[in-house]
Amino acid sequence: MSRYGIENKLTEYMDCLSEIGADDKGGVTRLLYSDAWKAAQEKVKSIMCDIGMTSEYDAVGNLYGRVTGTENGNETIVVGSHIDTVKNGGKYDGQFGIVTGLVAIEYLYKTLGAPKKNLEVLSISEEEGSRFPCTFWGVKNVLGIAQPEIAKNLVDADGIRFEDAMLNSGFNFMPSNYEKRTDIKNYIEIHIEQGGVLERENKSIGVVTAIVGQRRFNVSVVGQANHAGTTPMGYRKDAVYVTSKMVSAIVDKAKSYGDPMVATIGKIEVSPNAVNVVPGKVNFTVDMRHTDLDTLEEFTEFAKKEMKKIADETDVELTVDMYMSEIPVPMDAGLVNMIIETCEQNNLEFKVMHSGAGHDAQLMAQHYPSAMFFVPSVNGISHNPLEFTETKDLVVGVEAVIDVLKRLAY
Ligand SMILES: [Zn+2]
Repeated sequence: MSRYGIENKLTEYMDCLSEIGADDKGGVTRLLYSDAWKAAQEKVKSIMCDIGMTSEYDAVGNLYGRVTGTENGNETIVVGSHIDTVKNGGKYDGQFGIVTGLVAIEYLYKTLGAPKKNLEVLSISEEEGSRFPCTFWGVKNVLGIAQPEIAKNLVDADGIRFEDAMLNSGFNFMPSNYEKRTDIKNYIEIHIEQGGVLERENKSIGVVTAIVGQRRFNVSVVGQANHAGTTPMGYRKDAVYVTSKMVSAIVDKAKSYGDPMVATIGKIEVSPNAVNVVPGKVNFTVDMRHTDLDTLEEFTEFAKKEMKKIADETDVELTVDMYMSEIPVPMDAGLVNMIIETCEQNNLEFKVMHSGAGHDAQLMAQHYPSAMFFVPSVNGISHNPLEFTETKDLVVGVEAVIDVLKRLAY
C-alpha cells in the first residue's frame, strides 16, 4: 500500500463503520451492547479477518485482532480504542483509533510481512459510560480490575439491566480467575484531540505526555429562603450570593495557576429558583484537573478551605462531597521520545501536550508502557455530529502510528 492506499483503506473503514449506528441527526449512536454496537464489533471482526488477522472476543465483548510475530511470541504490541459512542456522537471519537490500528497493521503486514512481535488491534467494548452509569467497563475487564457487582446493579434509561443487556448481546462477565495479560509490552492509542489547541496552533499531531487527574465535587450551600422585598440586605442568608463568591475564588485561583490547571463549576441548581425569593439553597459541582497529583491535592485543599471560610463569614451551611478522584497518569517517557523522534524525522508539525480528557490509555498506562497521539479536531468539537478531522490529518496520524509500530514490532 502506498500513501494513497493508506488513505483509501482509512476512508473505506471509517465510512463503513460510521454507517453502523448512524442516526437521523447526522451523528452516530452505538451504546454498549445495543444492536448497533454489536454490528460494529462484528464489522471490525470481519475486517480483521480480511486483513488476515486472527480475531477473538473476550467474555465481555472486547475484540482482539492479531498478527502473530515470528520471533517474540510472548510479546505483543497493542493498538486500541473504544467502539462505543455517546448518544448522537461523532464519527471519530474512539472509532478512529481502532481504524488506525487496522490500517497500520494491514499496511505493515502487507509491505513488510509478519512482525517479530505480535501486533494486535483492540476494539474496546466501552469507554463513554453513555448507556450505564459506569465508565471504562471495557478496559477494566482487559486489565482484570472491573467489579462485576457494579454491573450487576446498574440499569439503563429504559430500565434494562446491565447484565441482561450483556447476556442478550452474547456476552457475560469475565471468569472470576481472569488475570491481566503479561504478554502486552506496549499500548498505543490515537484519538481526536476533542479540543482546539492543535488546530489553533496549526499542528498535525499531538504527542501526549500525560492524562490529567480529575476530581469532582458536589457542593451544597444552605442559607435561608425569604421574601425578596421585605428582607433587608443585612438580614439575608442568600445562597446564590455566597455561591458566587465561592465560584469566583475557585476560578480566579485556577487562572492564577495557569495551564494545565482547569477548574469548572458547570452545574448550578438554585432553590427555590424564583424571581422574588431570596435563594435559600444552591447545589453546584466543581470539576478540577491537572497533570500533577501534588498540585491537584494543593488546589483541592485551597478550594475546601476557601469555601469553608466564605461559608463561615456569611453564616450558611456548607457540605462538600468529593465523588470522583482519578490520579494523573504519565505516558511512558521512552515511547514519548520515540514519537517525538518519529515526528521530527518526518518533518511533522507536532505539539507535546497533555490530555485534559480521560481515555482508555489512562488505565492501560498504569499497567503497560503506553503512548497516546492526538490528531486535530476541527473547531475543537466532539461528542457531537459536527465532530470532524480533515482526512489529511487522519492520514498523518496513521503514518505516525505505522512508524512507531515498525520500530516496536519489526
Ligand atoms: Zn473517546
